[in-house]
Amino acid sequence: MIENPGSNTIELVVNRELCTGCGTCDALCPKNAIKLSIDETKGIYIPRINKDICNNCGFCYDICPGNKVDYEKLNHEIFEKEPENILIGNYQDCYTAYSKDTKIRYNSSSGGLITQLLIYALENGIINGALVTRMNKSKPLEPEPFIARTKEEIIEASKSKYCPVPVNIALKEILKSEKNEKFAVVGLPCHINGIRKAENKNKKLKDKIVLHLGIFCNHMPTFVGTELYLKKLKIKEDEIIRLDYRGEGWPGLMKIITSKHTHTNKLSDYWGFIGSHFFYPKRCLMCGDGVCELADISFGDAWLPKFKDDSTGRSIIVSKSKIGENVLRKMSKESHIELNNVSSIEVIQSQTLMIYLKKKNFTVKKSLLKVYPYSKLLRSDFIDNSIALWFYFNVSLSSNPYFKIIIQYMPLKIIKVYCAIFNKFASKKARKDIKSQYDF
Ligand SMILES: Cc1cc2nc3c(=O)[nH]c(=O)nc-3n(C[C@H](O)[C@H](O)[C@H](O)COP(=O)(O)OP(=O)(O)OC[C@H]3O[C@@H](n4cnc5c(N)ncnc54)[C@H](O)[C@@H]3O)c2cc1C
Repeated sequence: MIENPGSNTIELVVNRELCTGCGTCDALCPKNAIKLSIDETKGIYIPRINKDICNNCGFCYDICPGNKVDYEKLNHEIFEKEPENILIGNYQDCYTAYSKDTKIRYNSSSGGLITQLLIYALENGIINGALVTRMNKSKPLEPEPFIARTKEEIIEASKSKYCPVPVNIALKEILKSEKNEKFAVVGLPCHINGIRKAENKNKKLKDKIVLHLGIFCNHMPTFVGTELYLKKLKIKEDEIIRLDYRGEGWPGLMKIITSKHTHTNKLSDYWGFIGSHFFYPKRCLMCGDGVCELADISFGDAWLPKFKDDSTGRSIIVSKSKIGENVLRKMSKESHIELNNVSSIEVIQSQTLMIYLKKKNFTVKKSLLKVYPYSKLLRSDFIDNSIALWFYFNVSLSSNPYFKIIIQYMPLKIIKVYCAIFNKFASKKARKDIKSQYDF
């Protein structure tokens, strides 16, 4: 809690626990008075204001995606229409796809589509650089958003980082770039929402960013999840040289290289802990956008039954804008990617629980978390509200210092079973509800 918050600054958002830690305010503060840093207890990034410099202009509050996102207005501005599909937003088409470069595909999260697309855009003069994220070489557990200007740098940034990432702090570099340079940005829904809001206030940014690549996101695990998982594995943080959360096929591995050993853990093993309800920022409970509705193209894992045994990897894609659709088609025509149509229903099927929970349960969430910044939602019944309460209870437990000690020594199996029961119950309800509206 920040004492005596400025009357119209980002501190109001932080105090209401609505900050996503995206970094937009840090990059665009006209006085350069805001710096993001890690809150070690919560394991998330939060902005801190230098009160000696801040003049309370309110710009940070205006551009903050945690505070409010006017989807109706932004949908009209970007896509010139309201979405017909409330679950995935505006779209041109839906696909599954993968890079035809086997090395890129193998070393990415799902199909290597983001990496391949950025390389294509760079090599074909669509962009001069891309805002991406790699892990920091001198602090291997921390992410480092940066502007990649070569194929090698884009590849270096591939794979999902399951920790908080202040992507938008690197917008500073885009603003400082040469006059005619163009850029792509890659981010979670909160990052892309921040960028879209910032573009509305800053014409230079709007002119420079020509491609917005969004990542499907259920939630962003806190640093505490990784920290306690490493303790469970008895790996000392100061011995770590490199940590990758994904890669090496699909669904891939967490690979931890220390000065003594290389440890590998299957996604299904570590996600049960790091991705559990206990390392879930409260702000992610409030998010209503899992598919990154304001991106030009959104990318996720193709979690469809027909691909469950495919160890090579494939992404599920929602192409949203005309520019996004054109790039995908050109890449497919020139044989850089394998691109196959799927229906919007298959996209929802691949992510039923995530998409459903984002659009539901908000009666309870709203009353517990006080503010809800989205407009279009599905109605919630008693069971939905109970699911939301259960979730809120789990998430609240994770900030309790005694619980942190308990969970550190609790067998992984118990945590996995506990979360699996919740997910099974909630998924069943999600499928039943969505089935009544869509032909599954
Ligand atoms: C926190 C998080 C939650 C996710 N939740 C889901 C989900 O619920 N369902 C689902 O289907 N998919 C989810 N994904 C997306 C999935 O893991 C893949 O990122 C996606 O399928 C794209 O794969 P790819 O092979 O095309 O990407 P790659 O070619 O491997 O490229 C990944 C790109 O994403 C950027 N990136 C990686 N991590 C982050 C981050 N944390 N913030 C901003 N940029 C980042 C990298 O810089 C890189 O450019 C999530 C990803 C993250 C990071």
